[in-house]
Amino acid sequence: MIPRLVLIAVLFLSHTVTLNAEDPLKVYWVDVEGGAATLILTPAGESILIDTGKPGDRDPARINKLAREEANVSKIDHLIITHFDGDHFGGAADLSKLIPIGTLYDHGVRPQDRERVGEQYLSFESDARLVLTPGDELPLKQAQDGPALTAKVLGVLQRTIEPDDSHSANPLPASGYARKDPDLSHNANSIVLLFEYGDWQFLDAADLTWNLEEKLVSPFNLVGEVDVYQVNHHGLDRSNNTHLIHSIRPTVAVMNNAHRKGTGSETVASLRSSPGLEAIYQVHKCTRDGEEHLNTDEEKIANLKSDEDCEGNHLFISVVEGGSSYSVTVPRTGHVGTFQTK
Ligand SMILES: [Zn+2]
Repeated sequence: MIPRLVLIAVLFLSHTVTLNAEDPLKVYWVDVEGGAATLILTPAGESILIDTGKPGDRDPARINKLAREEANVSKIDHLIITHFDGDHFGGAADLSKLIPIGTLYDHGVRPQDRERVGEQYLSFESDARLVLTPGDELPLKQAQDGPALTAKVLGVLQRTIEPDDSHSANPLPASGYARKDPDLSHNANSIVLLFEYGDWQFLDAADLTWNLEEKLVSPFNLVGEVDVYQVNHHGLDRSNNTHLIHSIRPTVAVMNNAHRKGTGSETVASLRSSPGLEAIYQVHKCTRDGEEHLNTDEEKIANLKSDEDCEGNHLFISVVEGGSSYSVTVPRTGHVGTFQTK
């Protein structure tokens, strides 16, 4: 343990590069080209993977490589599959052949899900399988020093937690925001996870869609305000209800889009108009004709090239010990953005 004063001096003198080596919490976005695979390394040294990209060789191989070579883990301790769409659960069975899986969590395989997920998913090897329901917390090991890390389940299968004394009524009325038709696709079933480390908060609501996003913040804000928002549903406009974004007021948004998927114009408008938003990061550059203006600054984009030329670059967040600040690194460009936790 480095004395705090010495640590502060080191951080001050050497800027964010040394800061990364000391940071106890990291979040990596693996490039699974429009799917989802978010890897968290905890202060106690556990690994949490949320979703596994698509089936086939590419995505499981990229996840395994990043886990072993960047995060230095040899096992996925907690694997959460948010819902049964191929770009989220598809890589799970193949990944289990590359790296051991500890506990698998999902929303439960209902009779109507069995054919969709297939025999491979039902039988791949893990230490345990658990079903998550709203209000659950992941059983995470805690580091000896520093604040607790918690991962709370706010929603599953279109149900949310019940409001309690810790939740306040949302001062932004729902009537001020657009409504969209109810969505009952598999996306709506997404598991919603809120991570907290000290004051630092990160929301991963997977592919939750518009009407369910509304339930998260109205009439009570069940999320609160967050530091980092993984932009729902790869940035598609069927998700990213303006009411949600403006209520949770993220400082940083990270979009796991693809060249031609996500980066919706309404989503980008909602993010850019969100009070307190300081930066948007993208896993991919949007290359749809006439939509270049939807992109963030090029230095904040992990991958510029498409399809077979794609380099599969990741980006990551490091949260300092105690959670008081964090940095976002784009290895392709060397960009490091540093932000104060709210
Ligand atoms: Zn998806």
